[in-house]
Amino acid sequence: MIETEITIDEEKKEISINATISWDKDTQPPEISYTEQQISDAVSSHSGSMSGIVTPENPDGGDYQVNFGVEFVPDAESTYDIVLSGPDKPSKVRGQGKSGKEMQLRDGAPLEAIEHEFGHIFGDIDYYGEGTDAAGNRTTTVQEGFENNIMGRIVSGGGTTFDGRNVTRMIQSGTTSWDRHASPGVSVRTFP
Ligand SMILES: [Zn+2]
Repeated sequence: MIETEITIDEEKKEISINATISWDKDTQPPEISYTEQQISDAVSSHSGSMSGIVTPENPDGGDYQVNFGVEFVPDAESTYDIVLSGPDKPSKVRGQGKSGKEMQLRDGAPLEAIEHEFGHIFGDIDYYGEGTDAAGNRTTTVQEGFENNIMGRIVSGGGTTFDGRNVTRMIQSGTTSWDRHASPGVSVRTFP
């Protein structure tokens, strides 16, 4: 099971968002060349100072230092929270039973796509819409204002940053009962 924990320190104005995820890459096809360390570093690189973050104790929003982290652990049950898929299947995060999530990574997925999927693991949603053109092909449109955002990212390109709106959504996903990506696995702890 993928577990995400969000810790808010209101005194230090620090928010830690960490996912623990199992992935034994040795037992899966080697299409994804990234190492666990590269994936962990890529996600962590989005850490930084962000503004406009709404927390349970700060409903008006505020500035926080946000730290993202990913920890990989051996999986004793031989079920994997990250699975690799063929090139024709998109990367996505899907539910796994009642309380878990599974990340499906497309064969050869770019690192940005993996970071986007971790956004879902952390509790965020997509900020783009999907449709179909006259020829029946899948089309995507980024939601206005999210052009630079990694969760507004579409297949052909898009943004590369998380900001306060993403972090607010991640926090709220752990406190609302309905969420299509997250997740009973998300917990929010607030330390005053
Ligand atoms: Zn997505």
